[in-house]
Amino acid sequence: MTSQDRAAGSGPARDIDELVSGMTLDEKASLTAGADLWQTVAVPRLGIRPVKTTDGPNGARGTTGADHQSLTTSICIPSGSALGATWDPEVVRDAAGAVARQAKEKSARVLLAPTVNLQRHPLWGRNFEAFSEDPFLSGKLAVAYINGVQGEGVVATVKHLVCNESEHERHTCSSEVDERTLRELYLLPFEMAVREAGVLAVMTSYNRLNGRYLADDVDMLGTVLRQDWGFEGIVMTDWWALASTAEAAEAGLDLEMPGPGRAFGPALADAVRHGRAKESWVDEKARRLLMVFDRVGALDDEGDGGERPTDNERDRRSARRAAVEAMVLLSNDDGLLPLALGGLRRVALIGPGASELAIMGGGSASVRPHYRLSLADALGRRLGDGVEVAVEPGCVLATGPGEEPDGPGGGVPQKVAAAAAAAARADVAIVVVGTNSYWESEGYDRTSMDLPGDQVELVEAVIRANPRTVVVLNTGAPVTLPFAGRAGALVQCWFGGQELANAIVDVLVGDAEPGGRLPVTLPERIEHSPAFGCFPAESSAVRYGEGLFVGYRWYEARHLPVRFPFGHGLSYTTMSLGAARASAGALGPGGKVSIEVDVENTGARPGSEVVQVYVAAPGGGQLSPGGRLRPAKELKGFAKVHLGPGDKTTVRIELNERSFSYYDVADPDWPTLVARLGGPDDAARRAGHRTQAGWYVDPGTYEVQVGRSSHDIAHRLQIDVAGGAKPLPLSSPVG
Ligand code: BGC
Repeated sequence: MTSQDRAAGSGPARDIDELVSGMTLDEKASLTAGADLWQTVAVPRLGIRPVKTTDGPNGARGTTGADHQSLTTSICIPSGSALGATWDPEVVRDAAGAVARQAKEKSARVLLAPTVNLQRHPLWGRNFEAFSEDPFLSGKLAVAYINGVQGEGVVATVKHLVCNESEHERHTCSSEVDERTLRELYLLPFEMAVREAGVLAVMTSYNRLNGRYLADDVDMLGTVLRQDWGFEGIVMTDWWALASTAEAAEAGLDLEMPGPGRAFGPALADAVRHGRAKESWVDEKARRLLMVFDRVGALDDEGDGGERPTDNERDRRSARRAAVEAMVLLSNDDGLLPLALGGLRRVALIGPGASELAIMGGGSASVRPHYRLSLADALGRRLGDGVEVAVEPGCVLATGPGEEPDGPGGGVPQKVAAAAAAAARADVAIVVVGTNSYWESEGYDRTSMDLPGDQVELVEAVIRANPRTVVVLNTGAPVTLPFAGRAGALVQCWFGGQELANAIVDVLVGDAEPGGRLPVTLPERIEHSPAFGCFPAESSAVRYGEGLFVGYRWYEARHLPVRFPFGHGLSYTTMSLGAARASAGALGPGGKVSIEVDVENTGARPGSEVVQVYVAAPGGGQLSPGGRLRPAKELKGFAKVHLGPGDKTTVRIELNERSFSYYDVADPDWPTLVARLGGPDDAARRAGHRTQAGWYVDPGTYEVQVGRSSHDIAHRLQIDVAGGAKPLPLSSPVG
């Protein structure tokens, strides 16, 4: 059984080969390009119906109108970075399942999600859509998301292959990335999506990779995707991404979207007639498209293509749970949170987010939510009549171009004095600041990591007026936090979807535990970030100059201070991590080792803990002659547990050979170079030069670090790894 078989259903319902063999060249080619913005082409003669696709990661957008807005509403689950902060595959799977059900209610069978590009630089406009800076966390959550979607009979489309980590001139820029970095970081979530989840569709990105458009790239689509990973699903373009007919047809692209096609469709049939493309390529594409559509039952759909999404309790619960599990308690001095409700009489609710929260980012991921709820209303309802909630915006956050008089960060009308006065009168001040779908959007990058407008001044004024101030950060990506040390408590709530207001209240009053942990490092300043100086692009090239050192890998190797480290997040209870144990002290070829940790809730409230396992290779962070550069540590496993007061459990996290490996691009030219140099061609000289590329494990004693964040390591274990001279089999599990 192939990975795609496992994904949805048990196997093909139709004889697809027979269906394809009965089709004309024009009919087969017609399947390879869209009919319109969202649908594929029908072949009425054979009863093949159009298949509808829909965005996107945080909801089922459905058909859009002239203003690019959805015509119908959808459940709006938290955005990618929020889902990343849950560190919880089960929660992600559940929320993705809700989106898939809504996609079906909109007659769509292909969901254009998840987005698994990495949060390489804080200013990328689409960071909110991506899970994390870490490829392993992104990969595991992508697998969960895909399982959630495909489990509902909807094709998931992992996107955008690959290195789409800036918006600047995104249709022409080339991401310049070395192969090792590609394999270890940017391709890893895609590899896991294919090999672990059996994703049925992959979307190529707009950008070029090392000078070549991905839709035309036979090395990526043919060698990496299909040959190395065994992908049997379909490859589609991003919307209007460039593809050339013959090159893309040979490389392995199956579907050009949207329609009518420019490179594919009738143009592909013409290319076959003129001898520029082979009919067997078109057969292959038609076969794959029909196989994928059939696998989810799309070929049997009988509806009228209408959109009748339901706003239901089950989906609302999934969205609310995900928003709560995403909420990261960054700091909580003197236990200000959860709010002590007894004796609470007056609350000042301040900031642009008080009346309107940002629940999603801008661009193709935006949906029309089933309903909107303001934080003021949600809080007022929960606290009841006995507590006065004074609402003061304090300042205005622009929601579109032209609203900020002097450009981003420019002057906006302020009422800070009124906000500070309200804070001074209150028992507690809650100030909600951040960005919104104008500041964080597809199509352009941010130009500053600072909170837009006068929000920093607002926060400072409120904190001065009342030290019992909770700052809630309503952003999809990192912002500069100059006030971090002075806020009574700091909560990162992300773009948390339609249930965000309820989820914030749940966490503030202690009805729920803030379950999130940072999926991305919060740097002190933008100048410290890994890709600073390489972002967004120069002369149409985005140089991935930081190489392997993305996120915490960079800050650790450079010993740079950070505002809050990767993996960080506090709890309302206290958890003890007992001593870590390894099932074996050594790891041989093909072997596994289990890391076990006892976790106990030693506090008085229910809570959760995310146990994080990092592997540190010997000599990590430095490159020695003949060696391979390794990051100081890399995340290779994690587990989230929920425990009631006094409860205890044992967490087991499995590591395998791949957990200790790196990708060697090899240097097959070495023997020729040595021969030209003359002298002995002996083993000593050849050491460190391989002729075959692949995943290798070097022998040595590795440290396994178990902790609560990349900075907070509770236990260290030594594992003797045998390694080997040969690359790992391509089929060896990722982890
Ligand atoms: C985005 C994709 C999206 C597509 C369809 C593109 O602009 O990059 O992520 O799926 O549009 O809306």
